[in-house]
Amino acid sequence: MKYQLILTLCLFTAADSVVDTQQQTRADDSQATPIEAIADEQVQVIDLSYPLNSQTNFWPGDKYEPFTLETIATLEKDGVLSKAMRLPEHIGTHIDAPNHFEPNQPSVAEINPQDLIGPGVVIDISAQAETDADYGLSLKDIQSWEHEHGRIPDGAIVLLNTGWGRFWSQPERFQGRDVTGKLHFPSYTQESARFLIHDRKARGLGVDTLSIDRGISKKFEVHHITNAATRYGLENIAHIERLPPRGFTLFVAPMKIENGTGGPARVFAILPK
Ligand SMILES: [Zn+2]
Repeated sequence: MKYQLILTLCLFTAADSVVDTQQQTRADDSQATPIEAIADEQVQVIDLSYPLNSQTNFWPGDKYEPFTLETIATLEKDGVLSKAMRLPEHIGTHIDAPNHFEPNQPSVAEINPQDLIGPGVVIDISAQAETDADYGLSLKDIQSWEHEHGRIPDGAIVLLNTGWGRFWSQPERFQGRDVTGKLHFPSYTQESARFLIHDRKARGLGVDTLSIDRGISKKFEVHHITNAATRYGLENIAHIERLPPRGFTLFVAPMKIENGTGGPARVFAILPK
């Protein structure tokens, strides 16, 4: 219910600015507004979030724990069904707020809602990652993407398709833990993060793996670069392969945890049918 409300508010916020622009540029405003287009199912809405359950992957750190859900009232006994949950902030499809790695930055509850809606782009490095689990997005990869699809729009929410989504239900494979305990999965590099955040003003950086830093990273440079610029990360994005390289809008609706460093998020892509 809460998520529906958040999404509805997001959609109205987005629609207002789009409608303003359309009214200025289009004499014929008899066409459907984006809100009506969604209601009339003229566009597709793709859910990019994994469900939360006891199997949901989370960052394998000390004191992190699996998601649990307990029934606290039943229809039979109490006339109402109700449950209580326990979870780390950084589990499943979630946002990393700017205060996660940098001081004096906003918590998840303080992120400007306008930063949670933006044009989406997908950069596909699944072929490179197929033969190198430690692969990191290079500047050259970004250049080739822009050569083929045009300049990444300023303020985009960038998603990285590493192909790792296919390992989601195999936790060992998803983490890529070796015999020494080191993790191996692909993600951004410092150079690519710096370019996207500073030269393309990305609103946020998302990925289909556990972290916006690669598994082999020890210093979490990409987290620092992103959070120091008051930008956020999105991790464990689902179904990224269903998205085109560009031409869609992303809506990120995280739980509003006061002083939280992140939290589970419903992430939706809206694109033409
Ligand atoms: Zn996180």
